[in-house]
Amino acid sequence: MQTPRIAILGGGTAGWMAACLFAEALPQALITLVESPAVSIVGVGEGSTPQMAALFARLRIADADWMRRAHATYKAGIAFAGWSGPGSRYFHPFATAIDLHTEAGFHAQARLRRGGIDVDAHPDRFFLNARLAAERRAPLPPDHFPFAAGHGYHFDAHLVGEVLRDEAARRGVVHRRATMRRAVVGPDGDIAHLLMDTGDPVGADLFVDASGFAGLLAQEALGVAFLPFAANLFNDRAVVLPTPLAADGPAPFTAATALSSGWAWAIPLTSRTGNGYVYASSYLSDDVAEAELRRHLGLGDDVPARRLRMKVGRVATSWTGNCLAVGLAQGFLEPLEATALHLTQATVEQFIAAWRDGGFTPRHRGRFNAVIGDRFEGVRDYLVAHYRLNRRGDTDYWRDNAAHDRLSDPLKALMTCWFTGGDLPAEIARLDIGRYYAPLSWGCLFAGYETWPKRLRAGADAIDLTWVDDFLQRCAGNFPLHAQALGH
Ligand SMILES: Cc1cc2nc3c(=O)[nH]c(=O)nc-3n(C[C@H](O)[C@H](O)[C@H](O)COP(=O)(O)OP(=O)(O)OC[C@H]3O[C@@H](n4cnc5c(N)ncnc54)[C@H](O)[C@@H]3O)c2cc1C
Repeated sequence: MQTPRIAILGGGTAGWMAACLFAEALPQALITLVESPAVSIVGVGEGSTPQMAALFARLRIADADWMRRAHATYKAGIAFAGWSGPGSRYFHPFATAIDLHTEAGFHAQARLRRGGIDVDAHPDRFFLNARLAAERRAPLPPDHFPFAAGHGYHFDAHLVGEVLRDEAARRGVVHRRATMRRAVVGPDGDIAHLLMDTGDPVGADLFVDASGFAGLLAQEALGVAFLPFAANLFNDRAVVLPTPLAADGPAPFTAATALSSGWAWAIPLTSRTGNGYVYASSYLSDDVAEAELRRHLGLGDDVPARRLRMKVGRVATSWTGNCLAVGLAQGFLEPLEATALHLTQATVEQFIAAWRDGGFTPRHRGRFNAVIGDRFEGVRDYLVAHYRLNRRGDTDYWRDNAAHDRLSDPLKALMTCWFTGGDLPAEIARLDIGRYYAPLSWGCLFAGYETWPKRLRAGADAIDLTWVDDFLQRCAGNFPLHAQALGH
């Protein structure tokens, strides 16, 4: 096939991200993106992983060219509060090259403490991005600083979509506003064309389903099965409320605070703070959830809230026939670690490689589907651990989350390793799951929950913590204050 024709159904962040990546990788392709003027985008994905920085680098878009427009801020990681009882907190930092100097010491301290020795193994003391977040510095190494520092972003979902839309248009992607009535499937089981309300059909060699939770092409037209993750990820609703920008400016991190039947996010933008409560409808009614979020934020009834339903799980096969499902049409793993856009990006990039390697045929489809399916499950396990390890015990929601045994084999093996004093990084390597979440992330999660033996005896630190403190302080001093980096 000389000039592949690609039709993308859906103009949410996933659709535009796919359009940009296809246009970048396959400049010869004829790409059309169709979106309905009658169906709005979900408009709530506002936090990213460092993968988003890789996206903008790949598209050769500098921070200065999009961040101000999308009201974006920098993100050093996620601050968890209350997940193992009142007052508990820890930071999940994005990894930096500096962490190579402190990570082994962290794992050694944690192993000593798991063995009953009273040493400091709280993760916040060991990692650069945790320090930067505490000092409200941006995770942006200055030019003279010779180490890479991973960072993500927060942004307005609608505005970042506009940035990507304009970029796609600049790269020749055709944008059509029309509503699809039906996808016509040919006798070979592939999608033949999309019937639009404007009357003219949209044909293509490849159809990308970015139609949101509706999943109109893969699930509805091709009948691809949806595999729900409700057995161990209970949350299926969210209520969303903005608050004004904090007086001290936007924080360089997302806050994830445990509430009675779920958790609340706070995502700081330059124009407002986005807040939401993610909860399980089998434990909490929508009205009570909204009231709890208002109380948590100190808000009255004057600001209107948005209520959302979430379909948590994934399609059995992301690539089916001549259709690739991306974004919410592909699956969703609740927003706790802000992984949705990351998974969309990884899916599109890996699909392009597999499709191109197979000469634009489905030769590598089986392998691609297996890799993407494993990736969803790998990320799911990390999310499940946040709930399974909780030690709150104050509501049925938290008690049930802590009590069930619906865990994957790798997660069971990892928990066994942690609680029996094993070598966590070695176990992650043995299970071959470090590409989903690295030992640093797993270590911060386990140690952050402070699941230590009840009785601890005095002992010596494995490493010199004064050196760690001084080293991180000296490194952090090189980084700009967040407000300064944003030009405030
Ligand atoms: C509560 C919540 C919080 C989230 N937080 C995060 C986060 O912090 N980080 C993160 O990465 N992700 C997050 N996500 C996920 C994120 O919102 C989505 O992955 C992202 O917005 C992409 O959505 P989408 O483009 O797949 O779908 P949508 O935004 O729903 O877009 C669907 C598109 O399909 C079009 N469409 C639908 N039907 C038709 C039709 N018949 N004809 C033509 N067009 C049609 C619509 O017009 C629209 O353009 C969150 C999701 C939820 C629910």
